[in-house]
Amino acid sequence: MGHDQCIFCKVLKSELEASFVYKGNIVSAFLDINPVNEGHVLVVPNIHCERFTGLPPDTVKEMFFIGQKILKAIEDSKIACEGANLFLSDGSVAGQEVPHSHLHIAPRFYGDKHKMGFSHTTISQINRKALSKTATEISDKLKDT
Ligand SMILES: [Zn+2]
Repeated sequence: MGHDQCIFCKVLKSELEASFVYKGNIVSAFLDINPVNEGHVLVVPNIHCERFTGLPPDTVKEMFFIGQKILKAIEDSKIACEGANLFLSDGSVAGQEVPHSHLHIAPRFYGDKHKMGFSHTTISQINRKALSKTATEISDKLKDT
């Protein structure tokens, strides 16, 4: 999808309507039109970038910095919020529906009947050797960045 077709770019250019909670130089935030609960906010970089790993580091910092401020504001508001899920679906395989990276701030409260959709692997014994091999795989690459 070209970024002229991107619905978040259209929202950022005011070509599509949205309910904004924040407009900044690096990121903006508006309400999700299909909210998990009331107050479900999307923190969106002002630049078009599909993948999280493609974002400049300062943009990533700003997404989480503003995300935290917004969550505090929600907690201080009348919106039901006893906790929240902050999540970022990166890639269509992970459920990313809009190809413009975004951070979800989804308020949660007891009795809201939502569950996060992960089923963790259950293993009877921790395979430390396999875990260590995987950890090395990642930490070796981390040294290169
Ligand atoms: Zn976009």
